[in-house]
Amino acid sequence: PKIRPQAPQLAPRRKSRQIMVGSVPVGGDAPVSVQSMTTTLTSDVNATLQQIAQLATAGCQIVRVACPSQDDADALPQIARKSPIPVIADIHFQPKYVFAAIDAGCAAVRVNPGNIKKFDDKVGEIAKAASAAGVPIRIGVNAGSLDKRLLEKYGKATPEALVESALWECSLFEEHGFRDIKISVKHNDPVVMISAYRLLAQRCDYPLHLGVTEAGPAFQGTIKSAVAFGALLSEGIGDTIRVSLSAPPVEEIKVGAQILESLGLRERGLEIVSCPSCGRAQVDVYTLAERVTAGLQGFPVPLRVAVMGCVVNGPGEAREADLGVASGNGKGQIFVKGEVIKTVPEDQIVETLIEEALRIAEEMGVE
Ligand code: SF4
Repeated sequence: PKIRPQAPQLAPRRKSRQIMVGSVPVGGDAPVSVQSMTTTLTSDVNATLQQIAQLATAGCQIVRVACPSQDDADALPQIARKSPIPVIADIHFQPKYVFAAIDAGCAAVRVNPGNIKKFDDKVGEIAKAASAAGVPIRIGVNAGSLDKRLLEKYGKATPEALVESALWECSLFEEHGFRDIKISVKHNDPVVMISAYRLLAQRCDYPLHLGVTEAGPAFQGTIKSAVAFGALLSEGIGDTIRVSLSAPPVEEIKVGAQILESLGLRERGLEIVSCPSCGRAQVDVYTLAERVTAGLQGFPVPLRVAVMGCVVNGPGEAREADLGVASGNGKGQIFVKGEVIKTVPEDQIVETLIEEALRIAEEMGVE
């Protein structure tokens, strides 16, 4: 008898309580969301809103803005009102900015009550104001700013130290009956970070915001984040993600979205299945894959497109794809759903694939 293939699956999602960051649910059975942070001066309302609009267009679902000064706090009402996606105000020490962010209509506030306690113990008042406004709080523990007491106890920012710090910060709010919380425990080393989140996932049911902090420039940061998030998300851990890159924030969104798509946690958009090329290749696969990617960028339906350098593996890969090309002898065999539909000269491969993609979209009722 034939074996019926089963779709491979990741581990079930960890059961976390759900919070609402504005209109975006985080935790519970909500899809994993992608976030970024603006790099503009928050006090520059126009520049900040412009960057938020770019991020939203790229697929960003929640955006964080830093609020280190009164000018920034003054800009929050306009930003919160005009932003197309929920805005989180990032505040480190000053309770007055937390109240300002809540009054401004921010969807959430990132603040560590441990810092507030040292500065001016207004944790109870913050809990009350946040609760009344339905504004959740993100507690964000970072290896670089770990509490001195814990650094002394553990010697360095170990996973246990990060988790103890986060749960202690949570307890400061819990004392006031406030549990509308999500947590991050970031570290620049993916191994420490993965261990910290695993531990945290066992110790609480708060939704978790994944991040590798100071991950580095685009190439290194992308790899570190993909490895760390991939490990955790495949175990069902993580409710929202932020890729931190020393690069424009739109790049963070592209990487974050691609990580979720790769794990099947978000519907795949354009997926190019291209071969690495080898001595059998009869076409410049790199250039062809780049031209096909550019030609189909932003296509309105999810597409899996195989770009293969020769006919050895081409037909096999193309069978699994919506569309494909296997090149050879200056020509391209064009496949649709695994069937060769035509053979075209090499210089017509890209336009033929685009035509066929449009036909597929039309068949699906998408213009
Ligand atoms: Fe080599 Fe052909 Fe495989 Fe590409 S598809 S890697 S050219 S054998």
